[in-house]
Amino acid sequence: MTKMMRAARLHQVGQPFQVDTIPVPEVRPTDVLVEVKAAGVVPNLHNVVTNYPKWFPFLPLPTLPAIYGLDSAGIVSQVGSQVRSGIKPGDRVYVNPGLSCGSCTACRRGDHINCTAYTFQGYFGFGPGSKQVFEDYPYGGFGQFLTAPAANLVKLPDSISYEQGARFGYLGTAYSALRKAQFAPGQTVLIDGATGTLGLGAVILALAMGAAKVYGTGRNKALLDKIHKLDPNRVVPIALGGRATSELIMEATGGYGVDALIETLGPNAPVATVLDSFNALRRGGKAINIGGVADPIPLEPFPLMCLQKSYIGSLWFTTAEGQDMAAMADSGTLNLGVFEHERFPLDKVNEALDAIEKRSGGFTNVVIMH
Ligand SMILES: [Zn+2]
Repeated sequence: MTKMMRAARLHQVGQPFQVDTIPVPEVRPTDVLVEVKAAGVVPNLHNVVTNYPKWFPFLPLPTLPAIYGLDSAGIVSQVGSQVRSGIKPGDRVYVNPGLSCGSCTACRRGDHINCTAYTFQGYFGFGPGSKQVFEDYPYGGFGQFLTAPAANLVKLPDSISYEQGARFGYLGTAYSALRKAQFAPGQTVLIDGATGTLGLGAVILALAMGAAKVYGTGRNKALLDKIHKLDPNRVVPIALGGRATSELIMEATGGYGVDALIETLGPNAPVATVLDSFNALRRGGKAINIGGVADPIPLEPFPLMCLQKSYIGSLWFTTAEGQDMAAMADSGTLNLGVFEHERFPLDKVNEALDAIEKRSGGFTNVVIMH
């Protein structure tokens, strides 16, 4: 008899999710079947499922009815016939939802995120090949089970809860950005939008990586106080709307500037804020954008050259980087205890989407629990 499972599916854009009973997926040879325990509800999901006509046409969405749910943590239930080492049933895992085709030029270089078919399982794709990837992996975290390539699993130690594991997507994005900035122990970093979902992740990862000072901008005073309290000696909150960030930082660093800038601000953030933060970057410093600022930024190539400053886009993170984070959390250097989990059963998935709109900055972690 076919084993069945429950999954919240979107049947029509703008309509609520509907909980359906569908067959548990079959496992292909190099895949695993994961029993999902916690699935993160990402802040942008509400926008994707309600605003489809305004969604970016170059970013393909799964065919409806679709199971969403980007960040899943759970237990390996079954392994494919060719999964012979490293992963076994019963393992606790985070599923890196970044899927690649495996055989394009980028994939054969081991550069999976730059695959022309790169796709977020349970969310959206980045290239024309994504439609096929969605057909191969149509299961997201809002279903009780999903299949994923064995190579996409991050093993979670017992010290990391499933709810914390379901936050790995945003954490990993911040970690990969810090690595691309070549951020090193003893250095300083400015995190633009430090109280948000991405920004808070960047703060705790920079602390875990041995930052000397973490400057973090935000608008909400209560949230800025909260990030300051994470490490009062190293976290320096900066309230936007007062003195220019670049002025404050140049003063605090004796005119040197910060070593790295992590830009996490959302689509509606003013360009002037981004430019101000960029001016806080030292000679030779790297700015990494993981945010969604939509307007063009006037960057002048000649000063960039003279000052050797870079502005770099960064998408997601590798499974290896996810495994680094699991090790950092297990050793106690990365503090995953900062999150306030708001747990919803699958039946309340639509309420969970509303809850994410009312979150208290990055500290709130809305998860679906199976
Ligand atoms: Zn590829």
